[in-house]
Parts: sequence; structure tokens; C-alpha cells
Amino acid sequence: MTIKVLSPQVAAKIAAGEVVERPASVVKELLENALDAGAGQIAIETKGGGLESIRITDDGCGIAAEDVETAFGRYATSKITRVEDLDGITTLGFRGEALASIAAVAQVDLTTGIKESTVGDLLTLKEGLVVRHIQQARAHGTTITVRDLFRNVPARLKFLKTAATENSHIANVVSQYALTYPEIRFFLNIDGRTALQTTGSGKLIDVVIEIYGLETARRMLEVNGGEVGWQAGEAVPITVTGMVGAPAVNKAGRDALSFFVNRRVIGSRLLTRAVEEAYQGLLMQGRHPIAIININLPPSEVDVNIHPTKAEVKFQNERAVFTAVQRAVRSVLVTTAPVAKIEEAQKQYTGQSSGMTQPLWSGPAKENGSAPLLSTNAQSPKMTLPLLRVLGQAAGNYIVAEGPDGLYVIDQHAAHERIMYEKLLAEKATRGIQVQGMLEPYSFEVTPPQDEMLKTEAGRLHDFGFTIEFFGERTYLVRAVPSVLKDGDWLEALKEILDSPRDKMTNVEDDIIKSLACHSAVRAGKMLTDDEMRELVRQLEQVNLPNTCPHGRPTMLHLSIGQLEKEFGRV
Ligand code: ADP
Ligand code: MG
Repeated sequence: MTIKVLSPQVAAKIAAGEVVERPASVVKELLENALDAGAGQIAIETKGGGLESIRITDDGCGIAAEDVETAFGRYATSKITRVEDLDGITTLGFRGEALASIAAVAQVDLTTGIKESTVGDLLTLKEGLVVRHIQQARAHGTTITVRDLFRNVPARLKFLKTAATENSHIANVVSQYALTYPEIRFFLNIDGRTALQTTGSGKLIDVVIEIYGLETARRMLEVNGGEVGWQAGEAVPITVTGMVGAPAVNKAGRDALSFFVNRRVIGSRLLTRAVEEAYQGLLMQGRHPIAIININLPPSEVDVNIHPTKAEVKFQNERAVFTAVQRAVRSVLVTTAPVAKIEEAQKQYTGQSSGMTQPLWSGPAKENGSAPLLSTNAQSPKMTLPLLRVLGQAAGNYIVAEGPDGLYVIDQHAAHERIMYEKLLAEKATRGIQVQGMLEPYSFEVTPPQDEMLKTEAGRLHDFGFTIEFFGERTYLVRAVPSVLKDGDWLEALKEILDSPRDKMTNVEDDIIKSLACHSAVRAGKMLTDDEMRELVRQLEQVNLPNTCPHGRPTMLHLSIGQLEKEFGRV
């Protein structure tokens, strides 16, 4: 085998793969450049999920004529010059890789002008090479148009998701920067529609209103915390500002957690944990808060050079940052959100269930009406669960029942989820999902990513029982919902459907049915009457796959008589 150095074109494409993973990465890099250029207004327009075109216009400082071509070279940057500069980076970019990488995987047009001159430059690049460079009149600022992204990288194209998913990533990136820079006016247009527009008022709450809607914004609490950490005996000031949602506003996923370190958008498990710890006991399990957290600390305290797309950072003193965030968030929550704590609620339920008339573990209860124990083996081939006799409810979550072959502990939510899932599948396959009209249309606001999803999926949602009409800017009217959810939290189900990421592998229809099933199922923690429990168990006996919920988790534990006898030393 001989070793050869790759040609510059091949090398550039490989390097580009690190920086430009998907259309939203291009948007991110170009936004960062516009912000570094001191822009006050940034407009982003995309077409075809960003693959067809992405255009970003800013009113920043522009690029001088003699630098325009250099800017597209690898490691060409105006932001740092020396190794030591890496220890105190105050700009978003510093590697000089973005423009070169983008030009390697797309066709690029750039027009730019500086304050000192009325004549600017127009540059066109193909396959990373300059094919045109002329002068053109323009005001200060820069416009970059990126076309045919990844056309020359078929392998990458293949891994991309649907245009709707890419659009929602783009909307998400722009939303994040809008939250970090409330003083800058952002304008995002996707396929000719305005997806986000901020005022540049400088007030975070104004951006929150744009992104999460008025309803959520009303229930946001301001975070204003400072902390002094210690690093090698020296004081390190850390400030934590931003907003967090009152516990009542929460989400099924972690996508509403935004972290900014020195005004750089980052993802961080450490910070996610810090925030979630602050909410401990205030949220139901599986629910996540909304939080916008700005952390400011001296640039020397954070290494921004550890990740190819700078999406993660490393703190010198992780512990201090963790504590600062956790305390800042916790303190607003405890001072301004007097809500019942989950732990307390759970204790209450446990207390109640032990006070039930039938002691749970004292042998066969003499309850009325239940089927005789041993005559009840499987009667039809698909019925794998024997007839059960309900003994009672434990911890507000579990139905304890007895069968011919021992004890069953059934997770009420998981079991009901399975029942609803099979019911909905059957409805879909026969009459169609049953629909319930609303007495009055319900209006609700969506985030830009949800907006994208709704625009492309409205037809499909209709098949699943949601009749939704466009009402006005990012506002929709819900006119009908699936009947199974009419009294339940159909809004949560809808949001979950809109928030779930899609790719070519996702079975979207199955996911939607799962969401409907989950939100129509009885909740964990709900006290059930004996009749309700019996009905639930009876329905569970009839489903095809009673042992797991649609997500694959177990619905029940079974303790056989043999196991019991062994435990008690009878055998
Ligand atoms: P980096 O941002 O890491 O310096 P880039 O490849 O993104 O590297 O950009 C290269 C250089 O081009 C930047 O350092 C900057 O001088 C210039 N540049 C890029 N975009 C803009 C813009 N929108 N406005 C002004 N200058 C820009
Ligand atoms: Mg850059």
C-alpha cells in the first residue's frame, strides 16, 4: 500500500464535513460571522430545507476589497493572530474555517461593502474556487448566498432528513441566537414565509414572546444570579441571567433548554443537569423545564476550542459553574413558585391507598363479583393474560391483582397506554380515528419549529383527528380533536407530535398513535375506583400484547406462586 497526500479539493471536502453537517450548520456559521461583524440587523432566507439556498444579509462592518478572496482560504481569520489569543476569545468565530468549508460543499455568492467606501465587491465561488470577482455598489454589510448545498457530496445528502426537519433545525438555530442577542433584529424567512421576526428591543422577554408565545412568556420568571467561584485561590465572577418557566409550563423534551456562555450558543449536559436539579421535586417525572440561561465569566475560564462546531465548551471550574446555575435557578423557583411538590403529592397517594378497605396483602380478598379463580385459563389463542382479580391500588400508580398463577402488579399508565394504542390502531384501520368537534375553536401559538412542522403536517394531523386551521402569524385554531383525547390533554399530545424529530426512518404514523395513546391514558398517580381498575384490567386481558406498553416498557410484574413459596421458604 502506498501513502499519498490527498488533493486540496478532497482534503477540503473532508474538513468541511466537520463544520458543515447540515443546512442549519451553515446558518449557524454565517450568523456567527454576522454577529462578529457587529451587525444590528440580520436577515436569513432559506429555500428547500436550506439545500436549495440560504441567504444571510447583515449590516455589519463588511469585508475590505483586499480581504475578500482571502476570507475563503482555510484558516483565514481576522479574529485571532497568536496562539495566546486562544485563551481569551471574545468573538464567536476564530478558526477561519467556515467560509472555506461552506465553499467546498456549495456554490457561494458574496457581496460586501465597508463603511469607508460606497463601492463593494461581488465574489462568486464554485467548488471552492473564485470564478468571478467584480466591484459593485453597496452599503456597508455583507450578503452571502449559499446554493446547492451538498450537491457535490451525495453521501451527505443521503443522510439528511426531510425538508421539514431541516427547516425546524434552521428555525431552532435562529431562535437560539435571537434569544442570546435580544438587541439585534432577526428576520427569518423560510420558503417565502416569515418564520421569526424579533424587534431588537434588547429585552429578552420580547424574544421569548416571539418564540414561545404570549401564554408561555407570561409564566416565565427572571433569573438574576451571581456567584464567585474560586480557581487556584483567585476569585472568578460568574453571572447567571435569563429566564426560566414556572413549573406549570413544562415540556416533554429537553428542546426548550437554551444555554449561552459569553453569548455563545452551546449544549451542555452539565448545565442541563444543573437546571434540572434546580427543578427537582417541582416537575412530574419525564417533564422538562423551559429555560434560557446566560452565563458570563472571564474568557480565560472557558475553553471554546474543544468541539468541531464549537457546540460545546469546557469550563475551568465546572463545579463552580454548576453551582452558580443551580442556585440561581432554584432561588427564583422557590421564591416565586409556590407549587405542590411531587414528593409530597406522592406521599399523600400512598397514604390513601393503604387506607383502602381491602388490606392488600392479606390473602384472597372476599370481593364481590370477580371471576372464580381457577376456571379462567386462556380462552382464545391471542389472550395471553389470564383473568385477573383486582385486589387494590398501590402508590397511586399500580394495580395489584391476583391470577390463577400468582400476583400481578400492573403499571396503570403503561397498561392503559397499551389498551389505547391498540384501540386507536383498530380505529385507524377501520372507521378512521374518531373525532370530537370543539364547542369553540381553541387558539394556540406555536414556536417557529412547530410552525414548520404544522405547515407540512396539517394534512396528516387531520387524518389523526386534529382539525387545525391557520389563523394568523404563528397562531392556529383547533376545531376538532381525536375523541379519545376530548377530555384529556390533547394540547400536550399535539405539541409532542409537533416537537418530535423526524427522519426517513421514523414511522411517523406509529409515533402519532403512540402520542395519542400516551396522552389519553390514565396518568400515573391518579387514584382509581375499584370499578375503574376492574375495567382497565378487563380491557388489558383483551389486547394482543398485554405485557408491554407501545414504547416497549413492561406493563406488569408477575410473581408466581412458586416464587412466593420459595421466598417464604416453603419449598
Ligand atoms: P472565522 O469566523 O473563524 O474568522 P470564517 O471562515 O467564518 O472564519 O470567516 C473568515 C473571515 O471572513 C472572518 O474572520 C471575517 O474577517 C470575514 N467575514 C466573514 N463573514 C463576515 C461578515 N458577515 N461580515 C464581515 N466579515 C466577515
Ligand atoms: Mg466564522
